Amino acid sequence: MQDYAIFNEQQVYIEKAKPLLENIYGAPKACVNTFGCQQNVSDSEHFKGMLKAMGYEITENVEEADFILFNTCAVREHAEDRVYGNIGTIKKLKAARKNIILAVSGCMAQQEIVANKIKKSYPYVDIVFGTHNIHRLPEFIYKRLSGSGRIFERSTTVTEIVEGMPVLRDKSVKGWLPIMYGCNNFCTYCIVPYVRGRERSRASAQIIKEAKEMVASGIKDITLLGQNVNSYGKGLNEDINFAGLLRKINDIPGDFRIRFMTSHPKDCTEELLTTMSECSKVCKQLHLPFQSGSSRVLKAMNRHYDRQTYLNLIKKAKALMPGITLTSDVIVGFPGETYAEFCQTLSLIKEVRFNSLFTFIFSPRPGTPAWNMPDNVSRAEKGKWFNELLLTQEPIGKELEQEMLGKAYKVLCEELGKDGQIIAKTDGNIAVEFNGPESLIGSFVNIKITGINGGLKATLI
Ligand code: SF4
Repeated sequence: MQDYAIFNEQQVYIEKAKPLLENIYGAPKACVNTFGCQQNVSDSEHFKGMLKAMGYEITENVEEADFILFNTCAVREHAEDRVYGNIGTIKKLKAARKNIILAVSGCMAQQEIVANKIKKSYPYVDIVFGTHNIHRLPEFIYKRLSGSGRIFERSTTVTEIVEGMPVLRDKSVKGWLPIMYGCNNFCTYCIVPYVRGRERSRASAQIIKEAKEMVASGIKDITLLGQNVNSYGKGLNEDINFAGLLRKINDIPGDFRIRFMTSHPKDCTEELLTTMSECSKVCKQLHLPFQSGSSRVLKAMNRHYDRQTYLNLIKKAKALMPGITLTSDVIVGFPGETYAEFCQTLSLIKEVRFNSLFTFIFSPRPGTPAWNMPDNVSRAEKGKWFNELLLTQEPIGKELEQEMLGKAYKVLCEELGKDGQIIAKTDGNIAVEFNGPESLIGSFVNIKITGINGGLKATLI
C-alpha cells in the first residue's frame, strides 16, 4: 500500500517544531552522516529534505551542527565499529553545547541489541530510531525539543510505503530513485531482511512521477534503487515487473540515463536482459553479485542459483550487449569454504572478466544463520585468499581499460576534479578525466580515450 496520509501527520510536527527551533537556536544547522549502501544515501537525502523543511540549514561540518544524525549500516562489523567511534567523538561537543540533539538511525539502530547498547553506554544520544520509522524524524525532534525523555523507536508497524517525504538531493546531475524497499531472500550471511523488512514495491505511477520530476530538475543519470530491484512489482495491484518498469521510464522524454542496483542473479531474466539491450536510455552496465564461484558455497549462502546459471546469464548479457560493463560483489571465506572452492571463485572471475569487483572478507552478523556455521579458516588465511583475489582481478581490470584506449565514448560530465579537470562517466559508469570548461557539467559530450595515468584520460572530440 502506498500512503501519503502517513507523512501528512509529520507535516504537523514540522510546523510545530519551526518556532521552537528558532527560539532555541536562532538559525539551526543540521549535519547528516551516512554510512553504508546507496539505500542509506537515499534515506539521508530524505532526512535532509525533512530537516530543511523544519528550518535547519544543512552543513557538512559536525562541529557547527545543532542536530547531528548518524545513519548507520549493519552489513559488516567494521562499519558498526566506525559508527560507535563516531558517536564517541560527539560526547565532547555535547558537553560544550548542551542543546545539541544527537540521533542514530539506520540498520544498526533497527537492531534491539544495538539500541540497548546505546541506551546503556552512550547516555548522551537523544534519539535512536530504525529503518521503519525514517519518516518520523520531525516528530522525534519535536518531542525531544518539547522536553520528552530519550527516544528509542524500533517498531515495525508501518509496512506501507510512505510517499510524499521531502527530498534534498546531494547532487544535481545524478540522483537515486528508490523503487522498492526490503528483501525476501534471506541469504544466510545477510542482516538486511531482518533490519529492512519484507519486500515492498512502490506503485509505478509514483516512480514515473518522481523520475519525470528528476528529469525536469536537470538530473541526467537516474539510478533505480532497491535491495533486489529485479524482483520489483511483486505484491502490487498492477501487472508490472522490473523489465516493464524500465520500459516505462525509458519512454519518459528527455536526454538522460537509467541505471539500477542491486540485482539478484535468480531474478535476472532473459526478458530483463533483452529489455536492457532494447532501451536506449538504459545503461549497458550490470552489477550482478555472484558472491562465490562454488555451487556448494552458493547453496550454503541460500543464493538460489549455481555457478553455471550465473555464467549462462553473463554469456547472454554479453551476447545481447557487446562491451557491457560488468561489476559484482564477492565474499571471501564464507564459513566452511575450502581453498579449492575459493579457487572456483578465482576461475569464475577469470572467465567473466569483470570491469571491477567489490570484495569482502566474510563478516559474521549476529542473528543470521551464518553466524552459527562452523568456520575453520583463520582470519589470517582468509586475508591471504583475499589478496590472491585482488591480484587475480587487477590485471583483468587493467586490460579492459587498455582496450578502451583510442576509442570514442559519449560521457556525462559530472563534476570538477581536484586538479580542475572534468570528471565524466561513460554509459558503463567508468570515470574519465579531461580538460574542458566547467560549463559542460551536466551535459553529455563525446570524448576519445587518450591515455591511462592514475585513471582514464581523454580529450573532447
Ligand atoms: S538479496 Fe541477499 S544479500 Fe541482497 S539484501 Fe537480500 S538477503 Fe541481503
